[in-house]
Amino acid sequence: MSENYKDELVGVFGHPVAENPTIIMQEAAFEAKNLKWRYLTIEVMPEDLETAVDGIRAMNMRGMNLTIPHKVEVLKYLDRIMPDAGLIGAVNTIRNEDGILIGENTDGKGFMRSLRDDAGFDSSGKEFVILGAGGAARAIGVELAIAGAGRITVVNRTESRGEELARLINEKTDAEAVFVKWEPGFSISVSTDVLVNATSIGLYPDVDAEPDIDYSCIKDNMIVCDVIPNPPYTPFLERAAEAGAVTLNGLGMLVYQGAIGFKMWTGVDAPVEVMHDALAEVFKG
Ligand code: NDP
Repeated sequence: MSENYKDELVGVFGHPVAENPTIIMQEAAFEAKNLKWRYLTIEVMPEDLETAVDGIRAMNMRGMNLTIPHKVEVLKYLDRIMPDAGLIGAVNTIRNEDGILIGENTDGKGFMRSLRDDAGFDSSGKEFVILGAGGAARAIGVELAIAGAGRITVVNRTESRGEELARLINEKTDAEAVFVKWEPGFSISVSTDVLVNATSIGLYPDVDAEPDIDYSCIKDNMIVCDVIPNPPYTPFLERAAEAGAVTLNGLGMLVYQGAIGFKMWTGVDAPVEVMHDALAEVFKG
């Protein structure tokens, strides 16, 4: 029998990238599924992105993740962009199909899967409040709108960014979106079904920070979600849990977006628990 010494290659382009822990969950998944695949953490400077993307083709790499600062810039170097990634305006995952590089965005999809699989929640016709209007908020807002969300309220500190996201949802999808400028002690409407913190408030090492909202508005019939993966349980989620709300954390979302990428690349269902445990171990440290 002939030997196969060749690994299939995927990875992440970023700058800075050294602290990106995705390798831990993807390599754990390859091992669990007995796949001869490798995940590489690769430092790519902004001015080298085009050459690096050509390198994916040249080396027949099977795909790539993109992180800061490449998620938007990479669009112009790809052969195809999936419609949702085009609307979001950012690509975090490339898959290489016979030399054709296809841009995907799995961030919002990871959030949707967490809502569906962990909370058993059907988004169609429901009311959402999203705090933030950056990359994570755009990904979540667009996927929610595509999935048939009823009304999405975008709450953001910087008006122009918030207005742009609400306009995008109203003009390009069937969902209804409104923008509200974020004032201290922001009050959430009682008709809200799901509240999402899609800001970077609370991310390690700023672990005591929490969004400035009126926490007495959180009710026990709401689902409250945070995109912050580290620490998985933020003060925001702890206060929501105290109010009796169901909570979903950013670690779950991060694992699911990685699991969706794993399936896109390998065609194999991802071992979600293995990936979750591997990453939780890193964040514990
Ligand atoms: P961006 O920089 O694009 O956006 C940050 C958002 O947070 C903006 O809306 C910004 O408001 C808001 N914000 C930041 N600080 C404050 C503050 N003190 N008060 C009010 N608003 C504030 O970042 P991303 O959207 O790319 O990332 C946001 C977070 O999402 C990060 O922590 C990241 O780790 C996490 N993330 C998690 C993922 C997961 O799978 N769990 C996936 C992707 C991201 P303004 O516009 O006014 O500046």
